[in-house]
Amino acid sequence: MKTIDDINFKDKKAIIRVDFNVPLNDRFEITDTTRIDATLPTIRKILNDGGKVILMSHLGRPKNGPEEKFSLKHLLPYLSKNLNADVKFADDCIGETAKNLASELKSGEVLLLENLRFYKEEKKGDKNFAKKLASLADIYVNDAFGTAHRAHASTSIIADFFPGKKVFGYVMSNEIQNIDKTLKDTKRPFTAILGGAKISGKIQIINNLLEKADNIIIGGAMMFTFIKALAGKVGKSLIEDDFIDIAMDTLNNAKKSGVNIYLPIDAVIADEFSENANFKNSKAYDIPDEWMGLDIGEKTCKKFDEVIKTSKTILWNGPMGVFEMKAFENGTKSVAESIAQATENGAFSLIGGGDSVAAIKKFNLQDKISYISTGGGALLEYIEGKKLPGIKAIEE
Ligand code: AMP
Repeated sequence: MKTIDDINFKDKKAIIRVDFNVPLNDRFEITDTTRIDATLPTIRKILNDGGKVILMSHLGRPKNGPEEKFSLKHLLPYLSKNLNADVKFADDCIGETAKNLASELKSGEVLLLENLRFYKEEKKGDKNFAKKLASLADIYVNDAFGTAHRAHASTSIIADFFPGKKVFGYVMSNEIQNIDKTLKDTKRPFTAILGGAKISGKIQIINNLLEKADNIIIGGAMMFTFIKALAGKVGKSLIEDDFIDIAMDTLNNAKKSGVNIYLPIDAVIADEFSENANFKNSKAYDIPDEWMGLDIGEKTCKKFDEVIKTSKTILWNGPMGVFEMKAFENGTKSVAESIAQATENGAFSLIGGGDSVAAIKKFNLQDKISYISTGGGALLEYIEGKKLPGIKAIEE
């Protein structure tokens, strides 16, 4: 793997695709700096070499060109403070200003470009747009794992203009190494825990994991599509009818492959989807018609805990219930605690996906996990076995 450690950046201009897609409040202050902080070591290494840094990223989902609330200029104070440098800003990511600022850049200086997605060309993967960005620098660094599954101008197309001069930053190389460690050098038993709202987004990963995992634990709303496939009564729980047969196939294939699939035994059910709903415990397979399952129950937590604690490798994506609501957070909290304890006892644990990461932070267990991925969609596609465009572009 070619990384920034293979290059001495002295007097060289590096353009780095970073993931600065951070949440901002009404006053345009950053409310979670995790993604920026993750990239600081990459930027510092290049500056310490005596290199010049140009940063490019997207922020939010601008529809039609520039919008104040999606401007990357709001990140300048935080970046300047944490890089201990006067970070310059180009209010247009291409064009004369960007060109001039880039050419005037001195060693040890940083230039931040305005939001790439102010141009439709970015998401379209436009070659000409990529070429204009490429013309600003000598070396291309990709450090945005969160967007590595997209073939956008700045994440993949641009790499064509840097033959022999394109490398991964530390975020990317850490992600690849840690995910590969989980999937390739797997210490057994390997347990994958999957939850979240929709089975449609996860079934491919579950099928792919049948070749790799020893145990698959299923929670979240998608458990009810499996339970319905097994002829259980799921009441008003969220299910996807089109996936009932597919879920049944997966259960049969698991049996053939010798993979244990663990489905919930009991559930916390509610009379409406609300924080203030009436709720009670129920068998997971016998939910009354007017009720819906919003979390896994206590017996299930106990069973899942036993499986997790005997595992040596653990992968977790997707909450066990509606953890955003106090009444339905217990299942997700319990699984998070089991993973933390297993990690303390020597297991390797990897967590990814916005909701699981939000959950682990909510329960303040983030320091007790071996590796927290910055990727959601990118992580899942990588685990599915797809070659991500952002990775392919550097390796080719
Ligand atoms: P996903 O994006 O598919 O990982 O789904 C995450 C969302 O699933 C979270 O916002 C949870 O609130 C939601 N969720 C988890 N369990 C349930 C459930 N039993 N019913 C409805 N939503 C759920």
